[in-house]
Amino acid sequence: MNKKVIIVSACLAGLNCRYDGNSNSCEKVIEMVKNGTAIPLCPEQLGGLATPRIPAEIKDGKVITKNNIDVTMHFERGANETLKIAKLVNAEVAILKQRSPSCGVSKIYDGTFSGNIISGMGKTAELLSKHGIKLISEEDLK
Ligand code: SF4
Repeated sequence: MNKKVIIVSACLAGLNCRYDGNSNSCEKVIEMVKNGTAIPLCPEQLGGLATPRIPAEIKDGKVITKNNIDVTMHFERGANETLKIAKLVNAEVAILKQRSPSCGVSKIYDGTFSGNIISGMGKTAELLSKHGIKLISEEDLK
């Protein structure tokens, strides 16, 4: 089998893995999973976090929940596990959910839980990018 496999944020594929127990279904991503070209992964679940969970944002390089718990370790673990899977399947491209503290490709929330968006990358996006994986956000698919 020579087909190139893509890693995708699981919430884009319709899995209810978001912090609030919902998904961010994206028809194009769902189609890729159905036809076998994409594998859905949720870095936050891979990092050992529960669903639903308290939302978290990146502040000064750390990931902090809305109730002020430092969950950076879980986010880094999830990023490492995602990278491991990406390498296992030789993924060269990942389609990730913009604005997430794990998956954000070029935009994240500013760490104040006020809805402000700044330039930045989620922990998993950053690690995948450092290892040469091309990142695309679901916004880029539209
Ligand atoms: S960590 Fe990524 S895949 Fe998981 S819910 Fe958040 S945006 Fe979706």
